Amino acid sequence: MSTFSLDPGPDQIAVRDWLHGFAADVIRPAAAEWDEREETPWPVIQEAAKLGIYSLDFYAQQYFDPSGIGIPIAMEELFWGDAGIGLSIVGTTLAAVAVLANGTEEQIGTWAPQMFGTPDDVKVAAFCSSEPDAGSDVSALRTRAVHDEATDEWVIDGTKTWATNGGIAHVHVVVATVDPALGARGQASFVVPPGTPGLAQGQKFKKHGIRASHTAEVVLDGVRVPGHCLLGGKEKLDERLARARERAAGGGSPSSRGRNAAMATFEASRPAVGAQAIGIARAAYEVALDYAKTRVQFGRPIIDNQGVAFQLADMKTRIDAARLLVWRASWMAANNQPFTGAEGSMSKLYAGETAKWVTSQAMQILGGNGFTREYPVERMHRDSAIYTIFEGTSEIQRLVIARAVSGMPIR
Ligand SMILES: Cc1cc2nc3c(=O)[nH]c(=O)nc-3n(C[C@H](O)[C@H](O)[C@H](O)COP(=O)(O)OP(=O)(O)OC[C@H]3O[C@@H](n4cnc5c(N)ncnc54)[C@H](O)[C@@H]3O)c2cc1C
Repeated sequence: MSTFSLDPGPDQIAVRDWLHGFAADVIRPAAAEWDEREETPWPVIQEAAKLGIYSLDFYAQQYFDPSGIGIPIAMEELFWGDAGIGLSIVGTTLAAVAVLANGTEEQIGTWAPQMFGTPDDVKVAAFCSSEPDAGSDVSALRTRAVHDEATDEWVIDGTKTWATNGGIAHVHVVVATVDPALGARGQASFVVPPGTPGLAQGQKFKKHGIRASHTAEVVLDGVRVPGHCLLGGKEKLDERLARARERAAGGGSPSSRGRNAAMATFEASRPAVGAQAIGIARAAYEVALDYAKTRVQFGRPIIDNQGVAFQLADMKTRIDAARLLVWRASWMAANNQPFTGAEGSMSKLYAGETAKWVTSQAMQILGGNGFTREYPVERMHRDSAIYTIFEGTSEIQRLVIARAVSGMPIR
């Protein structure tokens, strides 16, 4: 176990400076254009791939860094550049983490590299869990996977929604129910290989923010995948289902217990998402600080007014507090410390709310300019809004924290 440190070592500093350079020189200058186009910024992803920033190796290195702060540092710098482009660059990791967490070594070796492609032929991947009637309530998934014993194939039918990279991905990871009576415990994850018939993109959403990231429905109509595409394998699934049925027979609602298990899994990825929100908040704070020092009203820079200077003081304080929570949770996750106090949820809740608040303060400090697309804080404010919604809404984070602190089944 590594000692928790707030002092990044030489490796983390090198990664931070390298990514900051890429964010400042490549991402930030491209941000407004791709936000307007509302399209995946393929040339930026290709550039990131050529430099090794968009690669399985890079993320694996950060993911397994025992200091725990490799991933949050990387996320903060990329999203400081721009959140829409940042999400286009790191969206694949959602699917990669699902394979890493649930797959066998062979499955990880087969699918994780295919998700990224190569620098000359870049690919993205999608993680498809949410459905029109199953957002916060993951136990309500209706997408069904049925095993065809004769061919050892799984047949998947259903509609997924809000999938980042959905339909444009080379590899899709789809969560489906194999035993609806067991709620979340009756679910399994499947890899849908490239070009599989029956998988199609539904509507692509026009969004309020992170518009350079592609979000779409994914329709699965009689999709057949080989048995080896079930993450973790059939034997493990059968054992898990047998245990869940035994517990269900012991009384209580299986779906409510399963929901807790699924939420515990999501907890682990939340600090990384919190770090993305911090990147947006820091970017907006820096623009506001510069502006406040140079904008003159009543014959003096507006920062000379305590009302404005105190706003900036609060913005910086909240950003630093959010980073402390995110680094603590990331260090805990990297060192296999369970989030018994819902530390992962705390970090995501606070960082998401901070990004939304800081960007709105920044807009206020920029006055009329803050409200126009001449300055980036308007975009940052729109981008920040997703951070209280995806990867568990703020209300769901509060639910997890409330349950952890009270030990009560708060609803
Ligand atoms: C841009 C974008 C990208 C996304 N990317 C992905 C992706 O790649 N893969 C994927 O699977 N999903 C993705 N999602 C889906 C996202 O995770 C869901 O939108 C999110 O989980 C919330 O679900 P919902 O939208 O159905 O809201 P709902 O669950 O319907 O919630 C609506 C409101 O009710 C509140 N609420 C619900 N239940 C409770 C409760 N028990 N207590 C208190 N309040 C409650 C919520 O907090 C929220 O305010 C994405 C969404 C967006 C918008």
